[in-house]
Amino acid sequence: MTPSIAPPISRRGVCFVISAPSGAGKSTIANALRAAQPNLSHSISVTTRKPRPGEVDGVHYHFVSEKVFKELIETQALLEWAMVFRHGYGTPGAPVEKALAEGKDLIFDIDWQGHRQIRSHLPEDVVSLFVLPPSLQELERRLNLRASDHPDEIHHRMKAAREEISHWQEFDYTIINTDLDQAIQEATAILSAARIETARRKTGLQAFIGDRFEVK
Ligand code: 5GP
Repeated sequence: MTPSIAPPISRRGVCFVISAPSGAGKSTIANALRAAQPNLSHSISVTTRKPRPGEVDGVHYHFVSEKVFKELIETQALLEWAMVFRHGYGTPGAPVEKALAEGKDLIFDIDWQGHRQIRSHLPEDVVSLFVLPPSLQELERRLNLRASDHPDEIHHRMKAAREEISHWQEFDYTIINTDLDQAIQEATAILSAARIETARRKTGLQAFIGDRFEVK
């Protein structure tokens, strides 16, 4: 390779965690990022909840029984897990470790409890974003528009929204999703910055700088 061109610098993948009260738009933002960004995939969680219309097993979630979920916990196959809206949700650990070691970035659509656990297991890899809706009224309007949940479920999600929001200070970045395009731009900027963090690329940079600049 000619010395005027820099080789790709190897690095660990980014654990990009996005949390928000449901209805704030985090899935839309995560999907837009994945569609636009190379080398970014979705960490597929396991859940005991039933699929919603249009959800595909192995794509949106791995839908499992409570028995299987318990086994996954007992065999320590989950990097984190939590009960959310009376259902079990968890992140299988092996695919995450593999992706990060290969320098592949992952996006996690998980709640604050999962964020806390992933952060404590992988403190160097996590970059986290909290997405706020502009108001509780707007959140309710969006949940009603979605109409895939039962009214009781919507009521429950509105109550849970305040609880989720109370953890906003645990996240590295916070955006207010009034304008979706702006929110996507901001999330993209966070990911772009995380990809070039010095610590994440330390080994790759050391090799490059040692070779090209003869500096340790
Ligand atoms: P939903 O049922 O709407 O798909 O998700 C409900 C909530 O569970 C969302 O806040 C979502 O972020 C969270 N969630 C989804 N997967 C996981 C997971 O693997 N771990 C944790 N802790 N939360 C999750």
